[in-house]
Amino acid sequence: MTEKVIEKTKGLVRAEFNFWVGLYMDKFYDALKEQKIIGNKCPKCEDVFVPPRKICGKCNETIPLEENWVDLPSFGKLINWTATPYKVSDRGSRKVKKPTAIGMVQIDGSNTAIVYRLLKMELDDIKTGMKVAIEWNAKSKGDPGDIKGFVKA
Ligand SMILES: [Zn+2]
Repeated sequence: MTEKVIEKTKGLVRAEFNFWVGLYMDKFYDALKEQKIIGNKCPKCEDVFVPPRKICGKCNETIPLEENWVDLPSFGKLINWTATPYKVSDRGSRKVKKPTAIGMVQIDGSNTAIVYRLLKMELDDIKTGMKVAIEWNAKSKGDPGDIKGFVKA
């Protein structure tokens, strides 16, 4: 067994690394770069996953990589949400003045939800079940940040 040395540290530790997301997510990110949403459909139960999966969690069926892709729209339904007074991507930061709303959005035609910021909405205006649409980043890079967040549809 190798010995680990852990030194006590204060503040943020930033580590930069690359990792391979896999063939299914590669396709998903390629589509994001074109500002398109794709999902994949389980051949057995026909649930549609966004982001795509290799294996259906419901019936344990493998979804072939080259088949069962579906084009989906850039809008969906807000199925749940919360607001946080902290910066989302920076846990070390202090409270911000205006809370950030985070939503779980089910893209129309899919059976799963993705989590993104809710933009240009007052907290009082946000209602579970409301229609929301993607606000794309002007410069897409083929990563999750291509979706800036969701706005009212
Ligand atoms: Zn299934």
